[in-house]
Amino acid sequence: MQGEKNVCIIPAAGRGIRFSRDLPKSFYPIEGRTLLARSIAAVAAWGGVSRFVVMVLSGMEDRARETLAPELEEIEYSVHAGGETRQESVARGLAEVGEADLVLVHDASRPVFSVPMVERIVKAAREYGAAVPVLQVTDSIARIRDEAIESAIPRDRVVGIQTPQAFRLDVLRKAFEAAEESGRTATDESSLVLAAGFPVRAVEGERWNIKVTYKEDVDIVRSFLVGARLEMPTAGE
Ligand code: C5P
Repeated sequence: MQGEKNVCIIPAAGRGIRFSRDLPKSFYPIEGRTLLARSIAAVAAWGGVSRFVVMVLSGMEDRARETLAPELEEIEYSVHAGGETRQESVARGLAEVGEADLVLVHDASRPVFSVPMVERIVKAAREYGAAVPVLQVTDSIARIRDEAIESAIPRDRVVGIQTPQAFRLDVLRKAFEAAEESGRTATDESSLVLAAGFPVRAVEGERWNIKVTYKEDVDIVRSFLVGARLEMPTAGE
């Protein structure tokens, strides 16, 4: 929307231990471009973000700047030290946002999704204050204890929540203030927004928008990129 100022926070400060012990996951190159740069470029392809706030492991800021400079030439971004948890990383990112209409938050490890999906999320966030992409789970779901199934969970109303998520700045600020006061922790921002009493709109996500978590996930992402199954973003290339 014309005149709208949107900022995107990229939490990339995880150690990614499940992925590799040698190199933080975000710096892993896939087909010649880091996971971090690919995830940023995928959001940038939408065209509505004026600035990215990138949170990396403390001590890796210069390395991130050096790596990203040739990868993201057309994109405006700043790099900062993240925190011990994802929530802390995003809270620190939020402090760098300044004035904005919408704040998007996107995992540094999700490089494959379409521009129409971002448009759906942003449209819903403008209207409802907060919106996230979701996917209905396809596996059966259960709670487990001591290597035994404790109870089955009906899956018809269970979804997985993806990113990018989008929020009105005032909503996200209030959610983080409330979380700080109550000591609440969560694995994504929408949980904090919900806990602060705001509605969160669920928008259709995408099956290929996987979070690269294990090494095998790279093969899945590569197959999308190489197989050109999607029209991939070109922003910043
Ligand atoms: O741990 P998880 O896979 O949910 O992390 C999602 C995103 O949050 C990743 O991009 C990761 O780099 C980021 N993160 C962060 N700061 C942390 C932990 C995770 O920015 N302390």
